[in-house]
This record gives sequence, structure tokens and C-alpha cells, in this order.
Amino acid sequence: MKGRLFVFSAPSGCGKTTILKGVFERIDGLKFSISSTTRAPRKGERDGVDYFFITEQEFRTRVRQNRFLEWAEVHGNLYGTDRKQVEEALNCGLDLIMDIDVQGARQVKCAMPEAVTVFILPPSWKELERRLRDRRTDDEDSIRRRLQNAYAEVSEAYWYDYAIVNDAIDKAIEEVVHIITSFRLQTSRLAGFISGLLSQKR
Ligand code: 5GP
Repeated sequence: MKGRLFVFSAPSGCGKTTILKGVFERIDGLKFSISSTTRAPRKGERDGVDYFFITEQEFRTRVRQNRFLEWAEVHGNLYGTDRKQVEEALNCGLDLIMDIDVQGARQVKCAMPEAVTVFILPPSWKELERRLRDRRTDDEDSIRRRLQNAYAEVSEAYWYDYAIVNDAIDKAIEEVVHIITSFRLQTSRLAGFISGLLSQKR
């Protein structure tokens, strides 16, 4: 059976990375889609693990070669998902998790309507602002910009298949686990098992 694509988007500060980490600890058979980006690596980030860090020239060449399933400019940097990486994982029967912005998610949904899209929402603007401040990674301008961007991103949440409010991290993780688990219980996914069962002697 082919695997399924799960696409996650969220404004920064909504806890997407922590949620996905918790999901990987609870479910087997998942693969994380490693994007290519022109952004410089942050402290502790490794090439080929967090991202494939490439030059803008290389990125543009790959765009021309149609090697990206989707790509977008986010906060001044280019990000894209390698088409071949996605096809290989799905053909191996792995469920693929993508962490991409709303522009990319829209492109994926158009190219692959069977992809499951999930938007992670903050419980309130006040709480999002508090979380951004607590990270102590952004100055006042950057916090304002992120909050403004967050508003624009949330206005796109309507067309996602699922939305999760991250008001408590464990609950949010459980909800994502439920979404993935329910897709694994679809009869189409168990067709091989069912026909195997029917072919056995009673
Ligand atoms: P960061 O640079 O903080 O890791 O990510 C910034 C934003 O880029 C996040 O919203 C993340 O979801 C998005 N992003 C990461 N990889 C991709 C990608 O391959 N395609 C698109 N469209 N967005 C991505």
C-alpha cells in the first residue's frame, strides 16, 4: 500500500515542531520530509537532517528542472520539497510528514488532493504573543511582524482538512495521533490484509 502525505502548517510560535516531535515518538512508520532551503543553518542545525541547505542559484536551477513538488518564499528565504523524495517515501508505504507554509500546502493540495492538510492554531493572540516573547529569540519588531504574519496565515486555515488548537501540548499531540491513526484504519489501507485473510482456510 502507498503511504499517505500529511501536511502541517502553523504560524511561528504555535508549537508545530514540538507537536511533530511528540507524534514521531508515539507513531512508527512515519518519515519527515526534509526540505531544501536557501536560509543559512541556525546553531545546531545539520545539513541533510533539518534541511538540505543549498545556494539560491542551485535552488533556482531545481525550480527550472521541475524538481520541487512545491516551493515558496518564506520570510525572505526560499524553501522547497523535492518531488522524488516524496514519491519514494510514499511508494515504500511510509506516511510522510511535511512541515511547510500555507503557500506550499496549497500547491501540494492542488497536486495531490488526497494529501491530508492540518493547521495548528494558537489558543488566542495574547497567548501566541506570550509564547513568542518567552522564546527570547526575537526583538520587538520581529515579534510584531510574526504576529501580523500569523493573522494572515490563520485566515488561510479554513481550507485545511483539519485544525488543531494548541492550548495544551499533550492534547494537541494526541489529536494529531488520532488523525494519522484514523487514516491508517481506512479499509483501502487494509485491503491486502483483508484479501489475505479471505484467502486462508477457515
Ligand atoms: P524555518 O526557517 O523557521 O525553519 O521555517 C520557516 C517557515 O518555512 C515555516 O513556516 C516552515 O513551515 C516553512 N517551510 C519549511 N520547509 C518548507 C518547504 O519545503 N516549503 C514551504 N513552502 N515552506 C517550508
